[in-house]
Amino acid sequence: MQLPRWRSWIDWVYPNACTLCSRLLVHTQEHTLCNACRSEMIPIENACERCGAPLPATAIETTAQRIDPAHAATSGRHARGRKEKKRPPTCTFCENRKWEFSRVYSYTVYRDASVRAARFMKEPNYEPLTRCIGTIIGNWLASYPLSPHLQLLDFAPLDLVVPIPQYWIRRFLHRYNQSEVLAEQVAACIGRPMAPFALGRCRWTQKQGMKTIEERRQNMRQVFVVRNRTAIANRRVLLVDDVMTSGATLNDAARALRAAGASSVHAVVFARGVNAHRVEPRGPTAESLTSTNQKIQ
Ligand SMILES: [Zn+2]
Ligand SMILES: [Zn+2]
Repeated sequence: MQLPRWRSWIDWVYPNACTLCSRLLVHTQEHTLCNACRSEMIPIENACERCGAPLPATAIETTAQRIDPAHAATSGRHARGRKEKKRPPTCTFCENRKWEFSRVYSYTVYRDASVRAARFMKEPNYEPLTRCIGTIIGNWLASYPLSPHLQLLDFAPLDLVVPIPQYWIRRFLHRYNQSEVLAEQVAACIGRPMAPFALGRCRWTQKQGMKTIEERRQNMRQVFVVRNRTAIANRRVLLVDDVMTSGATLNDAARALRAAGASSVHAVVFARGVNAHRVEPRGPTAESLTSTNQKIQ
């Protein structure tokens, strides 16, 4: 999809404009996203230990008391020695659910600007936006060891970064794989090598958008194959994808990696869909979002 002509003229006069809302980026080092759109992508601070979904506020409070002694000392309730509630380790979606991966790190919730960004990233010609998002989540992941939530997040040492691959026909039509671009940036930020072709898709899959969770699992069953077992064996792998909703894609990819001998499989995604139990109606395309922005302008 080509950018609209008016946008090209603006880019010529004012080289930087926000990809999501078309605001001009004046006096800023940013070339892709404005501060308003960035601020809508709020990092998840207290996440489910398996799927990365945000946990309720009560869990955040209890976690803060446990990790930060200063917070605990100023908390009368805690100072009185009331027995601390055990923080829920997982969300309700993960209860009684067996994942093939150890854990998913989700940067933000799939809503507002992150929805627009995720839909744009699936379109050709939006590679700069994808690189920008990849750098954001890569820096976010790299900052974990410095975060006060270190004990909570249990950031695991990793050996290899592997993107979720596209089937070759889709890759040819889209001209780039957004997960691969995200993985390149994440690998650079955390200082780990990337293996872009270690994992492959052995068949075409239908889009997941209108499917139920069970249909998504069936759709993604045994889709991934490890093409380079030597690169994967005994490695701690970090999978990279743009969005996790039902988890079917990451789960099948992790299954293939573990079957090939990976010692552990973690994953990082840009956005976590928190209404995974529902089938969301298909949203507007990046093209329609762009035309909406034109009308706003
Ligand atoms: Zn913006
Ligand atoms: Zn969960």
